[in-house]
Amino acid sequence: MTEPGNIHDRQNLIQHLEEVDQRFNQLYQTADNALSPSSDTPFSEYLSALSIALEELKLIEEEVCQHNQQLSEARQALETERHRYQELFEFAPDGYLVTDKYGKIQEVNRVAVELLKIEKRYLVGKVLPSFVAEEHRNVFRSLLLQLQSINQMREWEIPFVTRDGARFEAALTVVAVKTESGDTIALRWLLRDVTNRKQIEEKFRKIQRQNLELLEADRLKEQFIATMSHELRTPLTAILGFSDLLLRQFHRQFPPHQTRLIERIFENGRHLLSLIEDILDFSDLRSKRIEFRLEVFDLNELVALTIEEMRSLSEQKKLDLHAQFATANLVIINDRARVKQILVNLLSNAIKFTDSGLVCVQVSPGKPGKVAIVVQDTGIGIDEADFDLIFQEFRQVNQTTTRQHGGTGLGLAITKALTQLMGGEISVQSTLGLGSTFTVELPMHIAPL
Ligand code: ADP
Repeated sequence: MTEPGNIHDRQNLIQHLEEVDQRFNQLYQTADNALSPSSDTPFSEYLSALSIALEELKLIEEEVCQHNQQLSEARQALETERHRYQELFEFAPDGYLVTDKYGKIQEVNRVAVELLKIEKRYLVGKVLPSFVAEEHRNVFRSLLLQLQSINQMREWEIPFVTRDGARFEAALTVVAVKTESGDTIALRWLLRDVTNRKQIEEKFRKIQRQNLELLEADRLKEQFIATMSHELRTPLTAILGFSDLLLRQFHRQFPPHQTRLIERIFENGRHLLSLIEDILDFSDLRSKRIEFRLEVFDLNELVALTIEEMRSLSEQKKLDLHAQFATANLVIINDRARVKQILVNLLSNAIKFTDSGLVCVQVSPGKPGKVAIVVQDTGIGIDEADFDLIFQEFRQVNQTTTRQHGGTGLGLAITKALTQLMGGEISVQSTLGLGSTFTVELPMHIAPL
């Protein structure tokens, strides 16, 4: 934008005008003399002086024109600026208001009109506090007073009430416009409806509260299950002990049907005890209350041994159970009993959920620094949608089939928790009706817990 007649230009112009004025005075004086009968100066000299004066006047006229031109350009630029500001103000996505220092509205934009639900012509002249919820008006007025000393306030949340009585949560940002001497001449307000945001925040807080409650409930449930299991274990061990004693030492004294009853007591007791032990184990694993007893051993040997221990189960179902080893021996450092527990869980599932075909364990070094144990079967398979679910505690894919197969739904949860504590991973691949493959990857050397 051209600077309209700066001070220097203006002073020059004034000086020029003064010079011309002087010259005209002189000219007028000389003309007066020339017209007097006693004058002896030739008339032509006056004429030439006059023409010089006219020339200068012309120059000045040009200068004035130039100044006028600059002024009008500057005015136009100012007008464009003002228009742009007005557009920004008018079409801003938030409500904007300008008030005097008492909160009397002088200007409002479109969004502010929509928010306060009152026509612009009625809004101008009203005081902003009248739109603040009644119980907050005093606080609002004290803010107005404070704005005399502080210059701005950001994102102040206060309830507003529209002309038709609807309430909304407003966030206000206000800036005081001050004179050089520090007097407030206007206040510029930014008004936003944050009702939705506040509702979302409230929902979020509620969800967080519920989450904490759930976590607490989960902790209590765990505690209850652990205490209950401990309480049950003692009498159950006694029942098992006594029924075992009866079977071994006094079985001749009972008729066969009573012996069968005692056998059932013993079997059911054993089943219950293993369930309780699983529950306690899982609860210890979850709260990391376990310790690994690390030792150096050959994984191949452990797999072969476990397979032999389970062979009677697979034979009952006429399944082909075998192992494949990628290397001659695979020495690792881990808790032998816990690795065996993983193997037993996976193998017993594979045998349980396979009616014909084979169950195979492959052992290989896997990725660098790892070993992989793959347990594959040709059983009923698992739907992909259930891949995550099966690793959750007490979750069984199909209650009817699993009821028929037995189980508690804790085996895979324990296996996963153990694998993760060892710094490994477990994954599953399966096709319904064709079989499943569980892969456990463990570090060669695990860190002690
Ligand atoms: P449980 O075997 O005691 O029911 P798990 O946690 O070991 O509990 O297994 C959870 C569920 O995952 C099983 O009930 C079964 O539905 C499914 N599942 C596990 N292993 C297999 C498998 N090899 N083939 C088919 N389904 C399986």
